[in-house]
Amino acid sequence: MELFFLGTGSGVPSKERNVSSLVLRMLEERGTTWVFDCGEGTQQQILNTNIRPRRIEKIFITHLHGDHIYGLPGLLSSRSFQGGETPVTVYGPRGLKDYIEISLQLSGTHLRYPLYVEEVEEGFVFEDDQFIVEAVKLEHGLDSYGYIVTEKEKLGELQPDKLRALGVPPGPIYQQIKSVEQTRLQDGRIIHRKDVIGPPKKGRKVAILGDTRSLPELKEPLYKADVLVHEGTFAGEDAELAYDYYHSTVTEAASLANEAEVGELILNHISSRYQGKAIQQLEEEARSIFPNTTVAYDFYQHAIKRSE
Ligand SMILES: [Zn+2]
Ligand SMILES: [Zn+2]
Repeated sequence: MELFFLGTGSGVPSKERNVSSLVLRMLEERGTTWVFDCGEGTQQQILNTNIRPRRIEKIFITHLHGDHIYGLPGLLSSRSFQGGETPVTVYGPRGLKDYIEISLQLSGTHLRYPLYVEEVEEGFVFEDDQFIVEAVKLEHGLDSYGYIVTEKEKLGELQPDKLRALGVPPGPIYQQIKSVEQTRLQDGRIIHRKDVIGPPKKGRKVAILGDTRSLPELKEPLYKADVLVHEGTFAGEDAELAYDYYHSTVTEAASLANEAEVGELILNHISSRYQGKAIQQLEEEARSIFPNTTVAYDFYQHAIKRSE
């Protein structure tokens, strides 16, 4: 599991930072890629990476501001040209369905793969045997959401020495023992899986927020996330500006990370008013509150480790 930032600027693209998009790569976990927001130019950014649009399985849109969605029709359309055949589901606030359908229809775009659009509200968004995704409501002057992706706990590894001690020689039977709670051997003995596997592997929790004013009450849903991606549009001294424009400062984001006891904080959606040394200052400012902070830049990659 890895985060790949494609656009880390705010509002309009600059030479240094494109508008919002990031990817959660889960090639090992499920062979697919999830995209979060799709600002204009996202597909061009992807061209500079080894991300394959064919692998995109889900796209989560935090809110309908242009810097988060103007790249969506283009990406969906190109994916079709590039041989994408597997279904894609796009999640996002009310209005997203109209936006996508009208854009594709008016431009005469026909996709060669099934496209589903699900308009979300606060709460549960998606679940399968591996992951749960929930949406939390943010404060941004229009519907804006954060997505909390929680990986489910995985079974521990089979312990061959324990099986050998029970007199079960290696073979296809091992796979069967791992797949069910109990297995009857040919000699009639019952092997209970719980006796022969190691401790379960804890799932990871990643929270990716859209644009928002500082919301200390997010402490609870974000609690102990391994990684929090939070906007840091403004420096700490510009709290008033941030409030007026429905955005956050890097210090507000760091305080929330601290309160929620997350593992790591990654700041994105950085205003173009901060360049060069000023970016370093933003990072230092946030680190003085929450040391494990990184200010993301375009093409920044970040592996999400399993906490012990
Ligand atoms: Zn934005
Ligand atoms: Zn916005």
